[in-house]
Amino acid sequence: MDTMRRESPYPMVSIDEAQRLIATVARALEPETISSLDADGRVLASDVYAPFDIPDVPKAAMDGYALRSEDGMAPRRVVAELTAGAQEGLTIAVGTAARIMTGAPMPGGADAMIPVELTEEHDGVLTVQRTLSPGQYVHTVGQDIRRGERVLARGARIASAEVGLLATLGLTRIAVYRRPRVAVLATGDEVFEPDGSPIPGGVRDSNRYALLSAAREAGCEGLSLGIARDDYAIQRAAILAGVERADVLLTSGGVSMGTRDLIKPILAEIGTVHFGRIAFKPGKPTTFATVGEMNGAQPPKLIFGLPGYPVSSLVSFEVFVRPALRRLLGDAQPDRPLLRVALASAIRPSPDRPEYQRVTISWRDGLFVATSTGGQGSSRLLSLRGANGLLLVPPGANIYPAGSELEALLFGSLVTEV
Ligand code: AMP
Ligand code: MG
Repeated sequence: MDTMRRESPYPMVSIDEAQRLIATVARALEPETISSLDADGRVLASDVYAPFDIPDVPKAAMDGYALRSEDGMAPRRVVAELTAGAQEGLTIAVGTAARIMTGAPMPGGADAMIPVELTEEHDGVLTVQRTLSPGQYVHTVGQDIRRGERVLARGARIASAEVGLLATLGLTRIAVYRRPRVAVLATGDEVFEPDGSPIPGGVRDSNRYALLSAAREAGCEGLSLGIARDDYAIQRAAILAGVERADVLLTSGGVSMGTRDLIKPILAEIGTVHFGRIAFKPGKPTTFATVGEMNGAQPPKLIFGLPGYPVSSLVSFEVFVRPALRRLLGDAQPDRPLLRVALASAIRPSPDRPEYQRVTISWRDGLFVATSTGGQGSSRLLSLRGANGLLLVPPGANIYPAGSELEALLFGSLVTEV
């Protein structure tokens, strides 16, 4: 391990190939049953069918009068007032009507209702301004949701509307996929705790902080494994301890060609390395391995060896790790949306590798416009501050002029002004 290698033993895979290799092993974790009040951000593990009709009885859709449409324009005697939640065994006879409030069940005999704006009532006698046809202004049985209808599909993300829908159907305990536990290990003799005493010439461990945050944003539970020195036995032990306690392990640093880059050989020893290099910028040495297949671990634990440079590690996370985490969460749509964007100013491509440049995407004059966040160096985290997109710049010799259209991955909210 003491001589510098000139040639990586790992073949270079394309972005698509790397994503495909990851997708073949990243499967949803086992389901668990939880309260819908704790379900925000989780993913449904089974289809949900409506156990009954909504509404369950015909109801007034507005405030007004319940009546018989066949009585036409004839004045009616008002015989009762019906409010939502009240239960009366009333039947509307020929020539009568009942005041009725929005959401109140329709009384027997009435087949329509008329909104109060189209009526007058004097001394208990109702006159109407128009005739009605049967069913008018009546919220019919099953009009909103039909019994037996599939209202939510397995793989759907749960947000406020879904929680409300489930409550409407009386479903407060639901099956969701377990949340992945993601352990993060930093490596490097020069790397020190952000709140610890500085190592002269060293770097604060921003990657572990940022990756834990990114894992939580992706809907996972984060587990910090601290910083491992550049020592084979120490890093090997830390990695094994990490996969023991987590579903996914992310390491930072130690995947390049230096003599102290130990992650790849360790992963090759303890598991299966699916790829060790990806043809893209920034983050070429990104490595993906699985462990535990041999011991019948179901599913195997995933390990991503992410590069040390802060931008590389977060971009690699966004492009390769996040979709894998969403798959573990059972998300039927694990990928971020791709947009076609116009460049606000000229962009120079990398000559030999596709590059994800950090941009701010806004909607302007009927187009998605991508504005660069400035210097794109791998150590310059400021290039990610405020960015909401990764612009995929294909390699080549020629500059893309302003106005060129390229593809971008949208990972934040659209902005209105840049
Ligand atoms: P490496 O791939 O281990 O050689 O790391 C490359 C560079 O990334 C190092 O020289 C550091 O500047 C930086 N780096 C490594 N680990 C971290 C970390 N945990 N937080 C921030 N920067 C890091
Ligand atoms: Mg290192």
